[in-house]
Amino acid sequence: MSRVYNFSAGPAVLPEEVLKSAAEEMLDYNGSGMSVMEMSHRGKVFQEIIDTAEADLRELMNIPDNYKVLFLQGGASQQFAMIPMNLMKNKVADYIVTGQWAKKAAAEAAKYGKVNKIASSEDKTFSYIPDCSDLTISEDADYVYICENNTIYGTKFKALPNTKGKILVADVSSCFLSEPVDVSKYGVIYGGVQKNIGPAGVVIVIIREDLITEDVLPGTPTMLMYKTHADENSLYNTPPSYGIYICGKVFKWLKNMGGLEAVKARNENKAKLLYDFLDQSKLFKGTVEPKDRSLMNVPFITGNAELDEKFVKEAKAARLENLKGHRSVGGMRASIYNAMPYEGVEALVAFMKKFEEENL
Ligand SMILES: *Cc1c(COP(=O)(O)O)cnc(C)c1O
Repeated sequence: MSRVYNFSAGPAVLPEEVLKSAAEEMLDYNGSGMSVMEMSHRGKVFQEIIDTAEADLRELMNIPDNYKVLFLQGGASQQFAMIPMNLMKNKVADYIVTGQWAKKAAAEAAKYGKVNKIASSEDKTFSYIPDCSDLTISEDADYVYICENNTIYGTKFKALPNTKGKILVADVSSCFLSEPVDVSKYGVIYGGVQKNIGPAGVVIVIIREDLITEDVLPGTPTMLMYKTHADENSLYNTPPSYGIYICGKVFKWLKNMGGLEAVKARNENKAKLLYDFLDQSKLFKGTVEPKDRSLMNVPFITGNAELDEKFVKEAKAARLENLKGHRSVGGMRASIYNAMPYEGVEALVAFMKKFEEENL
C-alpha cells in the first residue's frame, strides 16, 4: 500500500491515524461486535459516539453554552436554502459575494426574500476580499452572510465584516477547525465536513439558540427546520452516523495536536512554504492578493494553459494528486487542509522547483 499526497479541494485528505483507527474498528467497534455503520442510532453505543463528538467540538472551538451544535445532511448547499427559510423573518438579507459559493447561496436566498449584495469581488474574478469594515447594512436585514474561506479562489476573510449589530452567518466549509474562532461573533457557523473534517455526508451547523424558532417561512419542510434537529439533538431521523463517528475521531486528533492554536501554527507553516516559493518563482504565480490569502486553498498559474496541463499531469505521475484548478479559474490549486502533512507541501514545492528548472 502506498498513499499519494492528495491536494483535492474536497472530498479531501483525512489524517492517516484516523483512517487506520477506523479500519481497525471496522468489523467490531469497541467490543460491540459490529461496525458503527451497522448499529442503531438509538443505541447507547452510538449515543456515546455523538455525545463525545459534540463535547470535543465544543471544547476545540470553545463554543458558548447558548449555541447548539447540529449534525445534519444535505451538504453545505442545503444550508443555502435552510438559512433563509429559518432566519428571514423580514424577508431581507445582505450577502457579501466573494466567490461561487457565496453567489450560489445568494441566488438561493433570493427565492425566499430580497437579497442585497452589499459587497462583491467579482470585478477581479474574486481574487480579493472587499473591505467590509464600514459597509452599508440594510436596516431591515435579517442577517449578513459571508463565505469565510473561498475554496475555489483561495481567499479568506482575515477580519469579519462589521455587521453593525446584525446576525452574521458564515459558511466555513473549507476553513472549519483550521484556526481558532470567536463563535460568539456569529449567529450561525456552518460547513460541509468533507473539506477539512471528515467524509462527505455530514454538515455541521453551530447556531445561537435564540435563532432556533418555529417562526420559519410558510411551507418549510420539517426536515429543513433547525428546531426539528435542535429539539432532538440531531437524532430526529437517522443521522449520517458513520460520518459523525469519523468526525469525532478527527476532533480527538486535533485535540491531541494541542487544539486550534497549534493547528493554526502548523497551517501557517505549511502555507508559508508554498507562498514563499510562489513569491520568488519565475514560472509560477499566485492568483490572489497576498493580504487575503487562504491558509487552506492555494491557487496558482504559469500563465500558459498548456504548461499548466503538463504540470498537473507530471505532478500526478510523481504522486502529487488533484492539483488541477477549479474549472472556473483554470491553472492549479493545492488544497492543504489540516490533514495534509508538512512533508506533502515540501514534496510539492520540490516538484515545482524541478518543473521550473526544466520548463523555464
Ligand atoms: C464545497 C463547498 C460548498 C458545497 O458543499 P456541498 O457539501 O457539496 O454542498 C459550499 N461552500 C463552500 C465554501 C465549499 O467549499
